[in-house]
Amino acid sequence: MIEEVFPNIFCEEIPLPQNPLKAINSYVIKGDGRFLMIDTGMNRPECLQAMESYIKELGVDLKRTDFFITHIHADHLGLVSELAQDSSKVYFNYPDTEIINDPNHWEEIAASAGINGFPESDIQAAILKHPGRRYHARRPLPLTLLREGDRIAAGKYVFQCVETPGHTRGHMCLYEPKEKIFFSGDHILESITPNISLWTADDDPLQEYLKSLDKINDYDIELVLPGHRRPFDRHRRRIAELKQHHEARNEEVLSILKKGRQSAYQVASNMSWDIDCERWEDFPLPQQWFAGGEALAHLQYLQGLGRVKRELQNGKALFLLRE
Ligand SMILES: [Zn+2]
Repeated sequence: MIEEVFPNIFCEEIPLPQNPLKAINSYVIKGDGRFLMIDTGMNRPECLQAMESYIKELGVDLKRTDFFITHIHADHLGLVSELAQDSSKVYFNYPDTEIINDPNHWEEIAASAGINGFPESDIQAAILKHPGRRYHARRPLPLTLLREGDRIAAGKYVFQCVETPGHTRGHMCLYEPKEKIFFSGDHILESITPNISLWTADDDPLQEYLKSLDKINDYDIELVLPGHRRPFDRHRRRIAELKQHHEARNEEVLSILKKGRQSAYQVASNMSWDIDCERWEDFPLPQQWFAGGEALAHLQYLQGLGRVKRELQNGKALFLLRE
């Protein structure tokens, strides 16, 4: 059901079948003669069908529509290749574009997953099932790249780009300082915790994410319009909860390592997860994959703090507590 969440700002939930996220919020801002759409859906028939009735009901003319995509994930970016016209601009960020243009991206992730203990026999299957691979946008995309502080006007609104790395390297939000509204993408969500995960070696996404939370904490915001679930206010309360969540996760990882050195995959299997499976072995492969990446992000962060050490044994990375 289409909802006008703010004057001339509309939202529809585009369904994400068999996905724990359930749906993504796609926003449309009606301007003077042009439309701006924020995030789209996965590139799969179920999303396209929902999107077609959304734009029809709202009277959106794709020839006069520009797109702002908060980050690279397929549920946000995927469908844009089916929607954007020659006359459309697709606004996006630099760091995630590097990943789009990296032909070795999935091979690097596969290699890193193996080093971090993901069973070799499952890696290819996990990647083939990965929504980021199955439902992504067709290439090439005509992207207009933005940086911190760049402005996009839509109707009476003038949005400022806010770089918020963490959930992805290039994640970008939009802030309207006059109306104090904030399109948060997957940076801050109300009832679910954004996945912070890592499968390649040199980033510290959790550290970046916590920094980006602190950055947004200082903003004067009255309404957060997130990528998933309901709009909300009181962003500082939610930021405090998210920081607490990651602190508790770090503590959990440290206590798991008390039992001895383990790979990121083993640590993930010992963490508690909000999923309807009793045993780790019963987790669907994509869930094991996300869990492993999340465990690794916390291990990497703790290593940066000097609380955890990483050792290579026979080409496999093991983590242990630092005395
Ligand atoms: Zn995402």
